Amino acid sequence: MKVVVTGAAGFIGSHLVDKLLSQGYTVTGIDNLSAGRLENLEETLGYESFKLVRADLLDPSAWSNEFRGAEIVFHLAANPEVRHSVREPLEHYHQNLTATMHVLEVARRHRVNTIVYASSSTVYGDPEQIPTPESHPLKPISIYGATKAAAESLLETYSRLYGIKTLILRYANIVGPRLRHGVIYDFIMKLLRDPARLEILGDGSQRKSYLHVSDAINATLAALDNLIVTGEYSETYNVGNEDWTTVREIAEHCCKSDGFRRGQIHIQAGYSRR
Ligand code: NAD
Repeated sequence: MKVVVTGAAGFIGSHLVDKLLSQGYTVTGIDNLSAGRLENLEETLGYESFKLVRADLLDPSAWSNEFRGAEIVFHLAANPEVRHSVREPLEHYHQNLTATMHVLEVARRHRVNTIVYASSSTVYGDPEQIPTPESHPLKPISIYGATKAAAESLLETYSRLYGIKTLILRYANIVGPRLRHGVIYDFIMKLLRDPARLEILGDGSQRKSYLHVSDAINATLAALDNLIVTGEYSETYNVGNEDWTTVREIAEHCCKSDGFRRGQIHIQAGYSRR
């Protein structure tokens, strides 16, 4: 079966490509390498059943033919940096929402059967309930979260209007090899610059749920199997853990890890919501 993965050279996308190839799929990856890295795909670039197309989703003429004959599109390409969304809301909107609209339109034209979308737990904002059920109201508190919520709505509407199957996965904070953004990555980078001092924004009490990338990929493919078995047109799942940890605890772990044992945590009020 032919499938397409957008954001294939990124953190989660490259792990998904590894898994799909190991299961016998023929995979076309699309990535503009704005954040993704060819090193993430170095084991897969030699596979006959894998092709990487370097293209920007904002320019559909460069990649739309790749959807021809594809059964499933895994749409992961996005800018996942919440801070970027706060600094550059319009640019972020185009990278996350305009790009998604192009994916949906090209999928419709090429009669793609199913779109799997990488959404985020940020669609809930500051949830009133933890663990948060999928039925919880969507009240994003970042432009990033708002683009994910809007993209979800577009996907569901395409499903109702055009009969495209859609699977929406609201990932928690995913961690593992090849990760190059988010709180843990930022803390390690700060400690590499100054091993004696780790500054954290906010009061450190913000809670985060973490999941290893291999579990996230397994959950994604299990949810896809379920969509096929149940015959539903649109499904939405949280993909995360029921437990959580605070930003301060994460900072303490980073400071205790090898090489950074001298690290002192300094709290600095500021924007840190995700
Ligand atoms: P990542 O930045 O590692 O991967 C995103 C990939 O998309 C990169 O390779 C980048 O080059 C590519 N890309 C971005 N814009 C593009 C464009 N216009 N055209 C083509 N390629 C483009 O991020 P990730 O952590 O692998 O996240 C993958 C998806 O999962 C994203 O949609 C993200 O919002 C979502 N998500 C991630 C997490 C997490 O903790 N990592 C949590 C929730 C949701």
